[in-house]
Amino acid sequence: MTSIMSAMKTVLSLTVGRALVAVVLAAIVVGVLLLNDHRQKTPVTDRAQHVTLTDAQQMQLGSQEYTKTLRQNRARIISSGSQYAEVNRVARRIEAVASRDKPSFVWKVTLIRKNEANAYCLPGGKIVVYTGILPLTRNDAGLATVLGHEVAHATAEHAAERIEREHLTKVAAAIIAGGIAVTPGQFVRISALLGAAAGLPFSRSQESEADHIGLVYMARGGYDPRQAVAFWKRMQRAFKGHEPPEFLSDHPSDAHRVQRVEGWLPEAEREYGNRT
Ligand SMILES: [Zn+2]
Repeated sequence: MTSIMSAMKTVLSLTVGRALVAVVLAAIVVGVLLLNDHRQKTPVTDRAQHVTLTDAQQMQLGSQEYTKTLRQNRARIISSGSQYAEVNRVARRIEAVASRDKPSFVWKVTLIRKNEANAYCLPGGKIVVYTGILPLTRNDAGLATVLGHEVAHATAEHAAERIEREHLTKVAAAIIAGGIAVTPGQFVRISALLGAAAGLPFSRSQESEADHIGLVYMARGGYDPRQAVAFWKRMQRAFKGHEPPEFLSDHPSDAHRVQRVEGWLPEAEREYGNRT
């Protein structure tokens, strides 16, 4: 009798185990089926790129990360005052420009009290600015330079490209589908790839591309692009020999960066002159 019982238990647990495996496999299959192949071009730079995650999937990933960040920083969120007004004023203009390239993204900016010079934009348009960056940006045009750069990472889908390069697209799709069949390690990895604040820098070519797109965005938003050159020169002096924040990250040489930005200036000045 006991042996029959234990045999039945074994069969039952096997069945339950198989059912679980089936659920997990189904989630993976659904995730994969939701993935499409996208051949598209980056805004402004017109670089042909291959990104599998859709705009909607990127927005969902970014929103999940954003919710987490806001929850962790609830007591530090600033929602009034002159810094709040400045960040919203500049973000609104940059967002309006970026929306032309990504009409489906839903933009939102949050200012967090943190003594760290940083700002970032998650996939899908959720922006985070730390108060520590405002003394460096100094004025609206300086802040527009940083926000243009960060927002460009989102419209050029740089995080999705990185996820793809690390063969994590299916994992990301599974997270979107409900987080099944994902190991904690993979989850942390995706999270790190999403938010620049989490530490992993974009590639050098992506950083350079964000500078180029960002410069054009600020010009289209009505900020004199020559102010960007002044800003980058200021940053060069301020961070010489220090660990740089995200918007300064992974550049072979700051002098080189200023030169490149100066090279894109005629294009940006045309946009500044022709803006509607
Ligand atoms: Zn960057």
